[in-house]
Amino acid sequence: MEYRILPHGGEKISVIGLGSAGMHNADDAEIERTVDEAVDAGVNHFDFIPSEAAPLAAMGRALGRHRDQVHVQVHIGALYASGAYGWTTAAEPAIAEFEQRLKALGTDYADFGFIHCIDEDADLDRVMNGGIWDYAQARKADGTIRHLAFSTHNLHIARRLLATDAFDLAMFSLNPLYDYTDESEYGRGEAGDRMALLCEFERASVGVSVMKPFAGGQLLDAAQSPFGRALTRTQCIQYALDKPGVLTVLPGVHGLADLHDLLSYFDATPAEHDYSALAAMAPQSREARCVYCNHCQPCPAGLQIGLVNKYYDLARVGDALAEEHYRNLEKHAGDCVSCGHCDKRCPFGVAQSTRMAEIAAYFSA
Ligand code: SF4
Ligand code: SF4
Repeated sequence: MEYRILPHGGEKISVIGLGSAGMHNADDAEIERTVDEAVDAGVNHFDFIPSEAAPLAAMGRALGRHRDQVHVQVHIGALYASGAYGWTTAAEPAIAEFEQRLKALGTDYADFGFIHCIDEDADLDRVMNGGIWDYAQARKADGTIRHLAFSTHNLHIARRLLATDAFDLAMFSLNPLYDYTDESEYGRGEAGDRMALLCEFERASVGVSVMKPFAGGQLLDAAQSPFGRALTRTQCIQYALDKPGVLTVLPGVHGLADLHDLLSYFDATPAEHDYSALAAMAPQSREARCVYCNHCQPCPAGLQIGLVNKYYDLARVGDALAEEHYRNLEKHAGDCVSCGHCDKRCPFGVAQSTRMAEIAAYFSA
């Protein structure tokens, strides 16, 4: 397992976590084994919000057994009164359900207490003024919630919540389908603005946990994918993990077979991690933009091309830490000898040698 560090708090978060949206497809014994095996494999980040109520007890039991080893995302605003997942901005039922989830975990704290799935201004206003926000802050103050977090698909809402300066983690939908097409209501915002938001998360030291990394499975199936071709789970996970601010990717699993598929990410070859095939699928009309995939490596001058570009994008939105990381690199954009290798290799059409000159000028200014 690989881990990344939560900027506010310093916890080590596994780069692959587990979502529970499909867990109702497994029986209780398999649910518990899935959690146990995931923990044995080093997975320590779990989202506790299945799409039906049925798996809640078994998940709670299994996560509770490993309570000190795992971080659990517990949401304020999810409801299971009808037996299926529901959603509310009303404080009373949201708070009752949140406290019920803690009981199911056999615990008195949530590692991450979530303002849950807010995509509209009016809903956010109700959360902020109707009791949920006050409750969340009070539980943060008394230690019931260790870190405040939020989930949204909406860039504007994410920015409103970021402006409160109160959050340590954001759950955001991220995958190539949402970035490169307008095919889903969950993929709101133009690709460049979505990337800018990720840079803003990183600048604000707010970690990102990724939901819907496979676009609900659409990207894994050529017949369903708007690109007409399928990507693999490993490619989608790598795509998300390469983005600024991202700490962990949480695919929803249906049980053990899905868990095993996810964990094969760590045995995959570099060629299997390479998602540059996406360039041939994404609309050519989009502006050429470095996605940090490193398909253009190796650079004969020894530059880490993806990393140089990522730090540059972050520095330009005011991330001082990224600027420091850039300066600590062994090779800098000014070391580029304009050989043109990366220009020829980049499937996304980035004129990287020109961009290296731009980056060098920026950092020397
Ligand atoms: S220049 Fe192109 S190939 Fe190289 S890291 Fe950026 S997007 Fe990938
Ligand atoms: S153009 Fe510059 S960055 Fe690109 S491969 Fe050549 S030396 Fe490396």
